[in-house]
Amino acid sequence: MFIRQVLVAGSFILAFAAAGAFLQQSQAKVLPYQSEASTIETLHPDVSRLDIFPEPRGEKVLKTVSQSPAARPASQSLLIQQLIEENEWKNDLILGFLPTSVRAQMPRIVQSWLRCYLACFLLYTITSGLWAYYIYACFGRQLFKSGHMPAWSDMYEQLKVANVSMPLYAVLPAVTEWVMEQGWTRAYTRIDSIGVGKYWMYFALYMTSVEFFVYWMHRGLHEVKQGYRWFHFIHHKYNKENSLSPFAGLAFHPLDGILQAVPYCWTLFYIPMHSLTFELLLFMTGIWTTNIHDCLHGRVEPIMGAGYHTIHHTTYQHNYGHYFIFMDKLFGTLQVPI
Ligand SMILES: [Zn+2]
Ligand SMILES: [Zn+2]
Repeated sequence: MFIRQVLVAGSFILAFAAAGAFLQQSQAKVLPYQSEASTIETLHPDVSRLDIFPEPRGEKVLKTVSQSPAARPASQSLLIQQLIEENEWKNDLILGFLPTSVRAQMPRIVQSWLRCYLACFLLYTITSGLWAYYIYACFGRQLFKSGHMPAWSDMYEQLKVANVSMPLYAVLPAVTEWVMEQGWTRAYTRIDSIGVGKYWMYFALYMTSVEFFVYWMHRGLHEVKQGYRWFHFIHHKYNKENSLSPFAGLAFHPLDGILQAVPYCWTLFYIPMHSLTFELLLFMTGIWTTNIHDCLHGRVEPIMGAGYHTIHHTTYQHNYGHYFIFMDKLFGTLQVPI
């Protein structure tokens, strides 16, 4: 059994490596604006690209590109510039309430962290709060048997754990954005630069990699004793149906939460991924975990709904998967709710 699991896991890793190598070749041909930039530079070596494609933030563009540690190909510089502008646009969207003078003092990575923290806080508080109100206050009597609803004290504790960890969760997307801005990942900004067909192909590969590594990260946090004892047990304090609630969705030790989300980030190093889609997916996990901790099971296979996750919280050795049941089925840990 163990050898079979190692072989299947090894095949996945080899497949990701092969797909990454193949995509590296194909992506090199499709980086955005590569052809325009190189043509212009060949025909008019004395004319700067910025004279031809003036940007609204021209000064910032010049500064950022000239600060590059080494001369980059024009296509990569432009991609990095687009990533920077995208991150600034997101910061403007969420941090618009801050005075300009205050934001000017904050390095971009700090602004990104603050924006991610506020977005995560709002998403968690609004979705889990509204969902808890809906299922307990509005329809509690119809949805739950007597004594099967969580106590206020459980929900309050879950809220507390999540809010203490949240500032640290926000470090992960902020640092990932900085890493993307350095040009170290395979992230791209424009779907039309690769075409819709390839976008979905990369998306499927990316999600397969995420499913695989989230499964093993979660399973590792159970099977490696220190992982469980130091980090994951905090989330498993809620081990009965009547102690789980939507608020448990982000109630983790901060490192536990980060470890289970980090496959979303490291997959960017070997599978080309649309930058905004990556960020939306990462934040969508906040909504997803709210949903799977409410103990309300609807049959939606192959999606791994709340019924599966309730079993995970009560047996500790089944249903480690993320969105789908495939990895548990493949590695022999699936237990189907009755
Ligand atoms: Zn677990
Ligand atoms: Zn859980």
